[in-house]
Amino acid sequence: MTYEFKTQSTYQQYFTKTHDMVRKSVREFIKKEVLPYIEEWEETGEFPRELYKKAAALDILSIGFPEEYGGTPGDLFFKLAVSEELMRSGSAGLCAGLGSLNIALPPVLSLGTEEQKKKFIPPVLSGDKIAALAITEPGGGSDVANLRTTAVKDGDHYIVNGSKTFITSGCRADFITCAVRTGPEGAHGISLLVIESDTPGFSVSNKLKKTGWWASDTAELFFDNCRGPVENLIGQENQGFYGIMINFQGERLALAVMANMTARMALEESIKYAKERQAFGKKLTGFQVTRHKLADMATLVEASTEFTYRVGAKIGAGVDQVKEVSMAKNFACMVSDKVTYDAVQIFGGYGFMRGYLVERLYRDNRILSIGGGTSEIMKEIISKFML
Ligand SMILES: Cc1cc2nc3c(=O)[nH]c(=O)nc-3n(C[C@H](O)[C@H](O)[C@H](O)COP(=O)(O)OP(=O)(O)OC[C@H]3O[C@@H](n4cnc5c(N)ncnc54)[C@H](O)[C@@H]3O)c2cc1C
Repeated sequence: MTYEFKTQSTYQQYFTKTHDMVRKSVREFIKKEVLPYIEEWEETGEFPRELYKKAAALDILSIGFPEEYGGTPGDLFFKLAVSEELMRSGSAGLCAGLGSLNIALPPVLSLGTEEQKKKFIPPVLSGDKIAALAITEPGGGSDVANLRTTAVKDGDHYIVNGSKTFITSGCRADFITCAVRTGPEGAHGISLLVIESDTPGFSVSNKLKKTGWWASDTAELFFDNCRGPVENLIGQENQGFYGIMINFQGERLALAVMANMTARMALEESIKYAKERQAFGKKLTGFQVTRHKLADMATLVEASTEFTYRVGAKIGAGVDQVKEVSMAKNFACMVSDKVTYDAVQIFGGYGFMRGYLVERLYRDNRILSIGGGTSEIMKEIISKFML
């Protein structure tokens, strides 16, 4: 497999030379610490735990978090630059695994007490501990307000019963930011509780096998009279739904970036292949149908990337973008669906073969329009702002 490293530095209104320096260091990390091993990690369904430490040493995990909790301050575009370069590993699973802290820690940062922030954030940003976010349950993920895992107060503990599924990094997470029902039915009865994996009654009931994202572990979690201390409650009791919704904005932007990078890499691979592969005595680029396909793919990638960056810039400037980030995620996923499909088509039979990057991009892409809120849920959100 060959990988071409390009930067998005042409988008100068969003990225500065300092962002490019960060890109360069992530690119070196990927080249040295990931690319030589990624095929093996994809096959085994896991990357080594020590990779968190190696990434942390280069501030890859800590970017965007406040310094007092072990973070490396920087605007949102540092985070986007890091995500884009991590995607150059060609393994969205690796990115999802390394990046699960970006969905697990923000609720702690925005709603947690000083004590909680000091306890849970620094060891994750230093790569010593792993964090996961657990909202989805076997009975449903989209209908968050109806989640069923209960947490009943018993003195200075909550007794948690229920299960969670599809949890990224769930198999080996030390801290799990978990959505639980502490109150009445509906959105107003939900709280966020950090469950530590050594809590009695907590177990990983299943490591799930997936279509894509092979290098990330995805778990089903089980809580059987699991006693979590009350001091691990994040924010007010029964106010967790708000924290979950705020958190989704960052996740949706990140998923849009992943989709754009997936499409960009599929396009780059297709261009290279079409310039080399011969059919009927000429290169694939000699066929107008191929040239037009590549032109359409490039147009979609550029439009989606620009739109995602624009939404990112507004989020960074504190402008409410709930509708727009849902649009950006959906648009980026439509683009990556089409572009990865067309890339496999351009590769013909080889596009269906393991060992070709487009094959993995095609598989890894499928989850993007499901995770972090499905495309149907995004449309519900968008239409609520319109009607
Ligand atoms: C690889 C992977 C990693 C994941 N990582 C995590 C994680 O780390 N943490 C976590 O909490 N979750 C995680 N998820 C779960 C993910 O967020 C959910 O799969 C997603 O939210 C959808 O929930 P569901 O699968 O239960 O589908 P359902 O909610 O059952 O939806 C099924 C179908 O019905 C549609 N639908 C549902 N409600 C409506 C509606 N109101 N209007 C129209 N259509 C509707 C959906 O769009 C979908 O097409 C992960 C999932 C995968 C596959």
